[in-house]
Amino acid sequence: MGNNTRTCEKCLTVIPVGINYFSIVKNLEHTLNSNNDELEIEVVDSIEVIVLCQNCGSNFNEYNISAIINAIPARGMEGRN
Ligand SMILES: [Zn+2]
Repeated sequence: MGNNTRTCEKCLTVIPVGINYFSIVKNLEHTLNSNNDELEIEVVDSIEVIVLCQNCGSNFNEYNISAIINAIPARGMEGRN
C-alpha cells in the first residue's frame, strides 16, 4: 500500500489508484454571470471532507444527506434540535 491509495472512511477498504470512488467535498463558491449570460459557479475554496469506496458511496443518498444537514449546527441555534 503506497501513499497514493485512498481509504474508504466508512468500511476502511483501500481504494487503489485508478479505481473510481466518491468524495464529499465542502466547497466555498459563488455564482457569476458569464459573458453569454449563463450562470457560472466559481469555487473559491475546496476541502475534501469524506472519501467513500464505490459500494459505500452508492449507499449515500438523499436520506443520508438530510441526516447530515440536520446535524450541522446553525449559528446561534446550537443545542436545538
Ligand atoms: Zn467503503
